[in-house]
Amino acid sequence: MTTPTSSHKRLIILGSGPAGLTAAIYTARANLSPVLIHGPLPGGQLTTTTEVENFPGFPDGVMGPDLMAQMEKQAARFGTDIKVETITDADLRSRPFTLRTSGTTYTCDALIVATGATAKLLGLPSEKALMGYGVSTCATCDGAFFRNKIIMVSGGGDSACEEANFLTRFGSKVYLVHRRDTLRASKIMQDRLQKNPKVEVLWNSEIQEVLGSKQQGVTGVKLFNNKTKETHEVKTDSLFVAIGHSPTSQLFKNQLEMDENGYIITRPNSSTTNIPGVFVCGDVQDHVYRQAVTAAGSGCMAAIDCERWLETQGH
Ligand code: NAP
Repeated sequence: MTTPTSSHKRLIILGSGPAGLTAAIYTARANLSPVLIHGPLPGGQLTTTTEVENFPGFPDGVMGPDLMAQMEKQAARFGTDIKVETITDADLRSRPFTLRTSGTTYTCDALIVATGATAKLLGLPSEKALMGYGVSTCATCDGAFFRNKIIMVSGGGDSACEEANFLTRFGSKVYLVHRRDTLRASKIMQDRLQKNPKVEVLWNSEIQEVLGSKQQGVTGVKLFNNKTKETHEVKTDSLFVAIGHSPTSQLFKNQLEMDENGYIITRPNSSTTNIPGVFVCGDVQDHVYRQAVTAAGSGCMAAIDCERWLETQGH
C-alpha cells in the first residue's frame, strides 16, 4: 500500500481549459509558481470541438485541440507545474485550503477554480446504457465511427447545429431532433444547417428511448411528437447528445456560493467569491457568454485578483 503524500503550494489552479491556462500563464509570469491540476481529459471543452473561427488572432480559424495545446505550451514555458490528477475532496473552510486526490493531499494559500462545465444528458436509462456504443456527447471524438451511416443529433442550440453540420462529413444522413418548432441557435448556424442538404430537422420531437444493444450498437430511437402526440421509431446508427452543459462545481457545494444551477457566484466585475483567496473563472461561473475568449479573459481576471490578494496577505 502506498502512503499518501502531502504537499503545500502557494497557488493551485484547477482546470486546463482556456480559463485555467490563461490564469496559469499570467500567474506563472508573475512568479507565483502555479501548480495546475487537471483530470484525465486535458484542454476542456475546446478539445471536443472542431474548428474555432472566432478566437481573435486566427483569421483562418484554428482547431480547438491545437489552440489548447498552444495555450498549455505557453503556460509551461513560464514555469507552470502541470499535473494530471483527480481531486476527490476539497476543504475551503480552513486555511491553508486542502485538496485531496487518491494518493496526495495538497494544501494551498490561494486557489483558482476553472473546472468548466460538462455535457448534459437527456436522462434516459437507454442513453446511459448505450453511451460509447453509438451514443456520444462528442462529435469530434466519435463522428468518424459513423462514416456512411445514419447520424442523429439531439438539441436546438449552437452546439447541436454545429455538430449536425460537422457530422455531415461522415454520415449518409444527419437528423437533428429538436423538442420545439424553432431553433435556439444563432442565425448564422441556422442558415448553415438549412443550406446543408444532408440534414433533416425533426421538429417538436422528444426522444423517449434509444433502441439497440451493446452488441448491435444504436439501431434507432423512439420519438414522441409533442404536437401530434404520436410516437414512432426512426432508424439511426448513432445519437449525439448536444443539449448544453452543467458546471463542474460539485466539489465546492456548501462551500462556495452557487446559483440554483450550480454555477459558482463571483462578485460583480471580479473573480472573487464568498471565500477570500478562492477565485473562479471560465464556464463554471459563466452561463451567459461561455466562449473560449471570455473564459480566457476571466482567467486573466482571476490571475490578477489572486496576485493582488496574495500580496495583501504577505504570502
Ligand atoms: P444551449 O444554447 O443551452 O442549447 C441547448 C439546446 O438543447 C436547446 O435548444 C434546448 O432546447 C435543448 N435541450 C436542453 N435540454 C434538453 C432536454 N432535456 N431534451 C431535449 N432538448 C433539450 O446550449 P449549447 O447549444 O450547448 O450552447 C451553449 C452556449 O455556447 C451558447 O451561448 C452558444 O451560443 C455557445 N456556442 C457557440 C458556438 C459557436 O459560436 N461556434 C458553438 C457552440 C456553442 P430549447 O431550445 O427548447 O430550450
